[in-house]
Amino acid sequence: MPITYSIIAPIFNEYENIPELYRRVSEVMNSTGEPWELILVDDGSTDGSTERIRALAAQDERVRPVIFARNFGHQIAVTAGLDYSRGQAVVIIDADLQDPPETILELIKKWREGYEVVYAVRAEREGETWFKLLTASMFYRLIYRITDVKIPLDTGDFRLIDRKVVDVMNSMREKHRFLRGMSSWIGFKQIGVEYKRAARHAGVTKYPFRKMLKLALNAITGFSYFPLQVATYFGFISAGLAILAIPIVAVLRLAGSHFFEGQTTTLISVLFLGGVQLISLGILGEYVGRIYDEVKGRPLYVVREAPKDV
Ligand code: UDP
Ligand code: MG
Repeated sequence: MPITYSIIAPIFNEYENIPELYRRVSEVMNSTGEPWELILVDDGSTDGSTERIRALAAQDERVRPVIFARNFGHQIAVTAGLDYSRGQAVVIIDADLQDPPETILELIKKWREGYEVVYAVRAEREGETWFKLLTASMFYRLIYRITDVKIPLDTGDFRLIDRKVVDVMNSMREKHRFLRGMSSWIGFKQIGVEYKRAARHAGVTKYPFRKMLKLALNAITGFSYFPLQVATYFGFISAGLAILAIPIVAVLRLAGSHFFEGQTTTLISVLFLGGVQLISLGILGEYVGRIYDEVKGRPLYVVREAPKDV
């Protein structure tokens, strides 16, 4: 029987959340009366999550495990889920139950109305630190301003994607992935549904500041040349300042002023320009490194175990 819904949950050390995730997802999905599958992608867990996933799969054939050889990161885990999904509609959900499975029914309703991407918008967030809220809010607004695709604000990866869009996404094999951006870039009919993001069911966040920063860099470099252009602007601004400053200083010196004498002024301008140049070089390096990763052509992930029937 063809599958209507694929639910994808990436799992990195979510031992305590797996049974509750399975219980709530099956309850909600059974209420649709249509065939579904739950793809649990184990992203290199070390806390026994892997065994729990295997045990669930042994007991319910609708649970399909994809087990990675190591931790490849959240975005890559979801990508693997998309690769192995067979449903007509695919739902990406966090395994920590911050995205309530009950909201899936609202996403499905919009999909039935003909929308091809239904993303869930975080109207409220529970149980997050002020630091997370602030950095997340800044992140969404920055990405919105400087990237070329209009990625909806306050939207995570929790969304329903139609098979047509999934097929296009699966053909985009870029290494540094920002899935929300990719799904916006593709187009089709998209709509948001508001929901209240809950607190984690158990455990702690697997997204430390370092990983959030990496995701933000991938989002920016993946969808914009803005940082490269900043270097050009800085170049023009400092060259412009120099052109203005040279005649002014010359005139002042001829008039007998000693204002611009001494090492301090020289040192400041050398340090300033040196700093700007190194930052520009670093930005260039971010892009060059990404080109290098693409050229190497390595697979996005390595699986230890995966379902045979794709
Ligand atoms: N996750 C993953 N690999 C990682 C980090 C996170 O598969 O390297 C999963 C994690 O298990 C969870 C989801 O991605 O299901 C979202 O992570 P988390 O809840 O820690 O992020 P937050 O909600 O705090 O932003
Ligand atoms: Mg979470």
